[in-house]
Amino acid sequence: MEKTMVKVEHLKKYFPITGGVFQRVVGHVKAVDDVSFEVKVGETLGLVGESGCGKSTTGRTLLRLIEKTNGNVFFNDRDIYKLNKNEMRKLRTKMQIIFQDPYSSLNPRMTVGEIVGEALLDHELCSKADVKDRVLETLEICGLASYHMKRYPHEFSGGQRQRIGIARSLIFNPEFIVADEPVSALDVSIQAQIINLLTDLQQKRGFSYLFISHDLSVVQHISHRIGVMYLGSLVELAEKEELFKNPLHPYTKALLSAVPVPDPTLKRNRIILKGDIPSPAKPPAGCKFHTRCPYAKERCTNEVPQYKDAGSGHFVACHLV
Ligand code: SF4
Repeated sequence: MEKTMVKVEHLKKYFPITGGVFQRVVGHVKAVDDVSFEVKVGETLGLVGESGCGKSTTGRTLLRLIEKTNGNVFFNDRDIYKLNKNEMRKLRTKMQIIFQDPYSSLNPRMTVGEIVGEALLDHELCSKADVKDRVLETLEICGLASYHMKRYPHEFSGGQRQRIGIARSLIFNPEFIVADEPVSALDVSIQAQIINLLTDLQQKRGFSYLFISHDLSVVQHISHRIGVMYLGSLVELAEKEELFKNPLHPYTKALLSAVPVPDPTLKRNRIILKGDIPSPAKPPAGCKFHTRCPYAKERCTNEVPQYKDAGSGHFVACHLV
């Protein structure tokens, strides 16, 4: 798992805030603010953080579904922001996304066969005669049957709809998939089935995931490495086992303290963070976490901590480390 598939360097995505009679730009929402990481071939990188921390925007910006403000994104060493429209369209077959809400992302007037096969025809990658076979094969891999092809999305349960969403992403046989909160809208019992499906598919086809979730216990099951985001920035990133055994950032420690432990004899001291998450339009100076951090010192209020390797690929941004 050594070769890098996706490399993100100092990625920024700022959304303008307009105001006044002339709708001038009066500020920016810094949704993604200088984020760097890599996803290796065959790896699942989990991205976790509270809602609004910029993880979904990171996923969409690195797929170029929304344009960046600054920074670079490389896919197999190609700078995707230097590709023209046609080249980008071709590359989209290699980089796919699974959305959180399978229902709203599926056209209710199309059958499952049409939904899953539509993109193949659009990209002219397959003759009409072959589309059916390819759709069938992909549906079966995702745990659906041939008779499902003629049915409409409303005839399926939430878990089955997510399987349709996954089949639609897999139809091109992609190399990299951004799974954006793919199980958050599902019941807990169904979540496990979808996570097992995604893990199985990765083993069979060898692709890489960026797995985005607000729930650390979900990310834990599927990820090889985990990155923790707070207010548009990565604050910590490490191998999964290392992160759970040796969390270094106070925010990661607080998130971990809320993850349930299966052993009833073990008790974790829950760390309750005070205050609300600040607005990304007005992030606090210095360390963005200082307004909620139980260990904040004066230095934290005016000096931005460097995001650096604390050893063996365990990255963290905190003055204490
Ligand atoms: Fe807390 Fe300071 Fe570390 Fe930020 S830099 S996480 S405020 S100790």
